[in-house]
Amino acid sequence: MELTEDILGLDSVIYVFDKTLTIVEVNAAFVRFAEQNQGGADFRAKYGEGCNLLDMIPERLRPFYSSLYLRAFNGEVVVHDYECHTPSSYRLFRLRLIPLADGRVAAENSLRVENALADPLGLDESAIVQGYVAPSGLIIQCMHCRRIKTATPPERWDLIPSLIKKPDDRISHGLCPVCLPLYYPD
Ligand SMILES: [Zn+2]
Repeated sequence: MELTEDILGLDSVIYVFDKTLTIVEVNAAFVRFAEQNQGGADFRAKYGEGCNLLDMIPERLRPFYSSLYLRAFNGEVVVHDYECHTPSSYRLFRLRLIPLADGRVAAENSLRVENALADPLGLDESAIVQGYVAPSGLIIQCMHCRRIKTATPPERWDLIPSLIKKPDDRISHGLCPVCLPLYYPD
């Protein structure tokens, strides 16, 4: 168990939440991150104090994250690595849940790996349509790693930077074979 003040003093992005999964406190690094990257007040209104963690998580993933939070409230330090790419970089983040002495839990988010993301396939729009738009008109994207499923067999999930860059109306979310067992072990 760690003291809240010690945790909040760290220079990584940290938010503290209570048993109702409401964010009750954020640290200076969180505020800096909000201001620099995501538009300050708007970001804090959506992800800051008073927000509920489950509201920020896609419905299908709530059982997974709920179980992580429960383990932390039971006193375990929980570590979970996840991918979150941008159009220009491959990024691996680490979420660490730290039980605090006052019964609350601190979540620390840190960037572990960032590599320039080359476009290995270099696809133009017509190649995307041909390879990745299913007969239903939808593009299936993994809700976690953001890879895109091929439209026809053999099934393959590819990272396509141009489809990360612009949100596309055709995109529907699924889970790729790497993320599925990770988030749904049963
Ligand atoms: Zn995935």
